[in-house]
Amino acid sequence: MKIIKLHDLYFKPFINKDEISKIVKQLALEIKADLPKDEVPIFVGILNGCFLFAADFIREYKGDCEVSFVKLASYEGTSTTENVKHLVGINEDLTGRTVIILEDIIDTGNTLQEIYNIFRDKNVKQLKVATLFFKPDVFKKELPINYVGKDIEDKFIVGYGLDYNNLGRNYPEIYQLTTQPKMKNIVLFGPPGAGKGTQATLLKKKYDLLHISTGDVFRFNIKNETALGKLAKSYMDQGDLVPDEVTINMLKAEVEKNADANGFIFDGFPRTESQAIALDEFLSEKGESINGMVALEVPEDLLVARLLERGKTSGRTDDTDEDKIRNRFNEYNTKTAILKDFYQAQGNYYGINGVGHIDEITARLSEVFDTL
Ligand code: AMP
Repeated sequence: MKIIKLHDLYFKPFINKDEISKIVKQLALEIKADLPKDEVPIFVGILNGCFLFAADFIREYKGDCEVSFVKLASYEGTSTTENVKHLVGINEDLTGRTVIILEDIIDTGNTLQEIYNIFRDKNVKQLKVATLFFKPDVFKKELPINYVGKDIEDKFIVGYGLDYNNLGRNYPEIYQLTTQPKMKNIVLFGPPGAGKGTQATLLKKKYDLLHISTGDVFRFNIKNETALGKLAKSYMDQGDLVPDEVTINMLKAEVEKNADANGFIFDGFPRTESQAIALDEFLSEKGESINGMVALEVPEDLLVARLLERGKTSGRTDDTDEDKIRNRFNEYNTKTAILKDFYQAQGNYYGINGVGHIDEITARLSEVFDTL
């Protein structure tokens, strides 16, 4: 999940699909458990916002039920203060029935008040209200709300049926209003030897970004014999990945140290799916996100030759031994390569041909950087 823009506003990930499903399931169970065994309730969804919630909810409700939808429409009166609301869509006779209102969100309770007023005249047996989200801080009415999926703070949300000026309803997750992101954050991706370090050094100047290479940070720590360096050394010497927790904490510290940067080029990070998830969450808390993963695509045979060549001068122990190099590719292929799918699913993957002269490749990368 990444920051989205709807009209003029930005929204950051807030509640993911899994959490929404759990909340919906729980509501369905709770409501079923409270009703007499043979009761056939009528669920009444309040359009438009509730359409996804209602659709998921009734599939989770295990029992006979009826489903209906209403829309609250206003007659604009001749005077501006006169604003009478009425329901469009209820044709059923509700006499003696159990009616359960399905709302996507209740904040001030004004809409709910209107609905209550209308149902009061319909001789129902009982009227209950279930809402997916509830804002306790702004709710001003005395009305009972029988079932609440989740209490949320008073911030504007969109997605999963909820809109901002009609956009955003089709997102399967919930997003929360945030400020405009200030950073350009790019993951420079590719197998060992693809040229990430070389290109990052050139591109950081051109785009005034900070280059964070986790490999370089580890090597700096090894050289200075820090605790982190000692820990990382045993893994790096074998060409194995350093454990996620260690790497993620180190990366976060590097970003925090440079909080007012225009953005970052991440080189060698993320390398596993949990690192990618951690990076998304970490940036999203700051109202920032990854603008794109730009990947240097180079055939493996070419890479081994490049690494052995580099090993003659780089002083890197993991560049001189072919077995260690093979192991690094194995780590890449089994743990890292899947990140292409991860970013592709976000619509954020840009593959670049990484074979050619350095400046040719910089030009190809720049074309993508310019659009991000
Ligand atoms: P690099 O300089 O990017 O080729 O990284 C050299 C070595 O540092 C790798 O083979 C790993 O042992 C370690 N390393 C660098 N970045 C990471 C990361 N994101 N996750 C785990 N290990 C890493």
